[in-house]
Amino acid sequence: MNIGTSLAPNIDHYNRRISYLRVSVTDRCNLRCIYCLPVKDLRLLDHAEILSYEEILEVVIAGTECGIRKVRLTGGEPLARRNFVQFVASVCRIPKLEDVSITTNGVLLKERAKEIFDAGVHRINISLDTLHRLKYAKITGYNCFDEVWEGLKEAEAVGFSPIKINVVAIRGLNDDEFPRLAELSVKKPYHVRFIEYMSIGHDSQWKPEKYISSDEIKSKLKCIGPLHRIPRATHDGPAERYRFESARGEIGFISVLSHRFCPTCNRLRLTADGKLRPCLFADNEVDVKTPIRNRCTRQDLKELFRKTIAKKPRQHHTKIPDSRDCLRPMYAIGG
Ligand code: SAM
Repeated sequence: MNIGTSLAPNIDHYNRRISYLRVSVTDRCNLRCIYCLPVKDLRLLDHAEILSYEEILEVVIAGTECGIRKVRLTGGEPLARRNFVQFVASVCRIPKLEDVSITTNGVLLKERAKEIFDAGVHRINISLDTLHRLKYAKITGYNCFDEVWEGLKEAEAVGFSPIKINVVAIRGLNDDEFPRLAELSVKKPYHVRFIEYMSIGHDSQWKPEKYISSDEIKSKLKCIGPLHRIPRATHDGPAERYRFESARGEIGFISVLSHRFCPTCNRLRLTADGKLRPCLFADNEVDVKTPIRNRCTRQDLKELFRKTIAKKPRQHHTKIPDSRDCLRPMYAIGG
């Protein structure tokens, strides 16, 4: 296999250094969030279609030899996969990885927080779109608000830092709660991040009128006080970071649609069914599962990383109001 590029292994055609891999360990989830799942066609993978933990580790190790330094474990719901904690410990032992983090809905976190922390993961993102129990059930399909809240407190108690709270902003659903959610960052060291609602997958429930831009979210937070911009640090992700006066935590805005951050995008995704994905919104994936199951070499896997990096588009073509560019729904990609 020869991709025929003279670029450094992790520099793409637009001079971006690709160092971040988001790994979906499963497409299964213990919640049914309305913004994540398709309207009808929920097709879950058979276990045999999902990469084994050993296969994921092989891919991640090859990635580190191509410049990957940060990994985020996600899903589906990562904590719902059996033996996840042992797997986390193995990922944390990969020598060249500098940072391993997790995105979870928090439902199972109370019992697992300490083990995950002790395994070596100290940064965590928890999805929580509302502070109302009933609304939580309406958004997620399950009455689990209390479990998530307990999980959040446990994560803080065992020492996770930062703890980021992901809020998908949806008009008519949780826009009345933005100030209350944002206030969590004042007394607690939480980073509350508002994510613009995206249409992902051919059958999503997204509608233009439900979308709220980060600028509008920001204006809804003025009642709390002025937001002070935090300058970008070298390893920052896509969030624009702010802080309220004397707050312990931060506010972040992830403006996927209104302010494209493609020029600084440094990431690839590995789906649970073994596809390397160059861009969240693009289905031009590279299959690693077939080669791995045909006993390909580490060198072959590295070539597949290079091939994926070479496929990264300059920018996604997703536009408001119609952003249905990719066919896979979010649960099947790994958010
Ligand atoms: N189950 C885990 C969780 O709930 O955090 C990890 C997977 S979930 C797909 C990862 C992130 O994607 C969550 O923070 C979720 O809010 C976000 N997400 C899912 N669908 C989205 C959408 N349509 N627009 C914006 N963010 C979305």
